[in-house]
Amino acid sequence: MKVAIIGAGFGGMAAAYDLRKAGHDITIFESADFVGGLASGFKEPHWDWSVEKFYHHWFASDKHILGLIEELGLSDGVIFPRPYTVLLHNGKWYPFDSILKALLFPGLGFGLNKIRFGLIGLYLRVTNNWKPFERFTVEEWMRKWAGAEVYEQMWQPLVIGKFGPHYKDVNMAWMWARLKARTTKLGTFKGGFQAFADRFAEILSEQGVEIRLGAKVESIKQEQDGVSVRSETGTEYFDKVLVTTSPNLMAKLCPELPGSYLKGLLELKSMGAVVMVVSLKRQLSEQGYYWFNLPKAVSPRRARGPNGDAGFPFLALVEHTNFVSQEHFGGDHIVYAGDYLEPGHEYFSLSEIELLERFTPAVKRINPKFELEWVKKVWVFKTNYAQPVPLVNHSQNIPAVKTPVDGLFFASMSQVYPWDRGTNFAVEIGRKAAKLMN
Ligand SMILES: Cc1cc2nc3c(=O)[nH]c(=O)nc-3n(C[C@H](O)[C@H](O)[C@H](O)COP(=O)(O)OP(=O)(O)OC[C@H]3O[C@@H](n4cnc5c(N)ncnc54)[C@H](O)[C@@H]3O)c2cc1C
Repeated sequence: MKVAIIGAGFGGMAAAYDLRKAGHDITIFESADFVGGLASGFKEPHWDWSVEKFYHHWFASDKHILGLIEELGLSDGVIFPRPYTVLLHNGKWYPFDSILKALLFPGLGFGLNKIRFGLIGLYLRVTNNWKPFERFTVEEWMRKWAGAEVYEQMWQPLVIGKFGPHYKDVNMAWMWARLKARTTKLGTFKGGFQAFADRFAEILSEQGVEIRLGAKVESIKQEQDGVSVRSETGTEYFDKVLVTTSPNLMAKLCPELPGSYLKGLLELKSMGAVVMVVSLKRQLSEQGYYWFNLPKAVSPRRARGPNGDAGFPFLALVEHTNFVSQEHFGGDHIVYAGDYLEPGHEYFSLSEIELLERFTPAVKRINPKFELEWVKKVWVFKTNYAQPVPLVNHSQNIPAVKTPVDGLFFASMSQVYPWDRGTNFAVEIGRKAAKLMN
């Protein structure tokens, strides 16, 4: 069987691996001139390792990606350092990467709130029955079971940070999945995610998969006997095609999909992301913290609420070189400041320097000694498709991997629900698609 895969992200490459192993003839079309998609990285000439454009790590529970890495014989490359995640309270940072650490967080006070928070956290962690959760929003469920104070102090900032104006619409199954599938241990690949993606692509090529970089697909059409793919180099015919782009792009690529499927694709909501990366001459967090959770306020009034210090202009500040050593980056310290935003937010139109200037006062709140003079270089990465937004009863709105067009399949971040998007689930859905196509 002749198969085309659109996209050389982790999902597309995982599907290619299984389909090639099953003996099929595989061509991957990738519009970028690199593999890895959203998890790709970049490298300065004096760095030994690459840095992800959007901060990335794996959880110890990411069995699909870690299992694939093992199958590829690359497990030697996986490392799990033990970084520190912290949360702000009254101007001080507190460890916050497990329910236990969260229980020690002073922001909850002592007494009933702590007990409610602990019990709810434990319950969500042990139960596997996620389906009933999707009938409620996080807001409804948490207010009822955790109470208004615990919700507003601990959970609301998280949903606001991730989903902005949609935060009240996100369903509780998303929160369940987030607590269920995450671990304190965080992992990466020696050389960065890009090093893994490049090695994976090399293995695929050795096995006979044709990976075409800089090959943007313009349209996909059903033919009498299969599916055609049109790119700059012309139209080619395949027995089956798998698309791994965003739902919006899928709808544009194949407008002849039946109306109900198209409507389903276009009705899916998602957030974009803007992430600034800086290389610094000095370490930013002198305490060696990796991940700063920065509570965002519902409104400026709430910014002066119980947390007192909310109102950062970004959701997370991540000092990558407090996770992996700066030795791999020629001594540079790498820091991310990122946010999930609605496409069209003004950050999408700011230049690197404008964003750096905008973020500088907030970076000084992390370390008051910070000066612009510490900055060696700044990069900004943007994507319109970063985080699907799961609404109530979302399981009923997920587009099927096998589309109604014969031979055409679709596997994206929007279909890994109830799980939150991630390379682990990109691999899972890529392999699921491969199974259906076989
Ligand atoms: C800010 C941020 C932080 C994240 N953090 C983590 C994390 O810590 N851990 C984790 O595991 N995951 C994380 N993720 C999620 C992870 O990056 C994705 O889930 C995963 O990379 C998705 O893989 P994919 O193959 O489904 O899609 P993609 O990686 O988006 O791959 C799709 C590919 O299709 C290509 N393409 C698009 N249009 C065309 C066209 N017309 N023709 C040809 N090719 C085309 C694209 O260039 C791309 O390479 C994060 C994502 C973001 C945005």
